[in-house]
Amino acid sequence: MKTGKGAEARLIEHIEKTFRFPGDSRLLLGPGDDCAVLRHGAGRDLVITTDEIVEGTHYLARFATPEDLAAKLMRINLSDLASMGDVKPVSCVVGSGLRKETPPEFPRRFMKELKREALRFGISIAGGNLAGAREDHFYMTVWGETGRGRVVTRYGAKPGDLLFNVGPLGLAAAGLEVLMSGKAALKRKFPGLVRAFWRPEPQLAAGALIGREGLASAMLDNSDGLARSAAIIAELSKCRVLLSPGEGVCAPELRAYCALAGKPWRYYAIGGGEDYGLVFTAPPARLAAVKRLLPAAAVVGRVEKGRGAVIENYDGRIKSFEHF
Ligand SMILES: [Mg+2]
Repeated sequence: MKTGKGAEARLIEHIEKTFRFPGDSRLLLGPGDDCAVLRHGAGRDLVITTDEIVEGTHYLARFATPEDLAAKLMRINLSDLASMGDVKPVSCVVGSGLRKETPPEFPRRFMKELKREALRFGISIAGGNLAGAREDHFYMTVWGETGRGRVVTRYGAKPGDLLFNVGPLGLAAAGLEVLMSGKAALKRKFPGLVRAFWRPEPQLAAGALIGREGLASAMLDNSDGLARSAAIIAELSKCRVLLSPGEGVCAPELRAYCALAGKPWRYYAIGGGEDYGLVFTAPPARLAAVKRLLPAAAVVGRVEKGRGAVIENYDGRIKSFEHF
């Protein structure tokens, strides 16, 4: 399971160091979080992020429709805004590189769905770009507004805090397996898993509530799996995160799929990516408030003194992710 510091993590670290602009007082939060935050004046800050979907890396052409790609592109970008707290999405720019074999109706169908999604989430599409490419790929930059200095970062978790998740766990990774199998019967049997992969629901309402009520000490969206999310919080908040998700967080459809696939549900829930729920920490004193205001949130671990992220197994034994 990939949770250690790989080449990509090292490159991101280098990027963060390279792009430090101490002179720009308008840049409130730079590289390293889900979004950048810029002072925008008149009591408003601008929250900006960008993300991309690449053929061969994130999906295979044989199981992707233009509608799937448009929906997912919009949603994974909005998910980053949701992870910053009380952010109202405003607009986006979008671009694509397309192989020359890609049929002309493909971008038309993509744009139609993208507009539908934009209307659904109440944002506009302000511009974009189109180019030829060796692989199809789709990218977006989205921005939203928030009140001054009100965002929730990845840096504030403290020993003693509880770790929460709101949103699906493991469904998208199982959905990707279903799609990769190419078995139509399997797709029909597990529509919720396939949907979780292609149409993750950005947790905008939950994120806004968490931000408004000041519930979280740190937060990010769960794009690379619970193990990776825990490791990121541990690293950036300089603490140790212990994961112990209980049976209650396993969706019935994932349980049914696991019985068929012969793998434990925690394999998907902890190691699987692309769920796009929100992972956040909060002091135990706020547990009652979280339960009351956000009943969908589940405790999936806790924060301790130390470094790194580990899994507490069913029998209470602690394991590192590498041995999970
Ligand atoms: Mg993110």
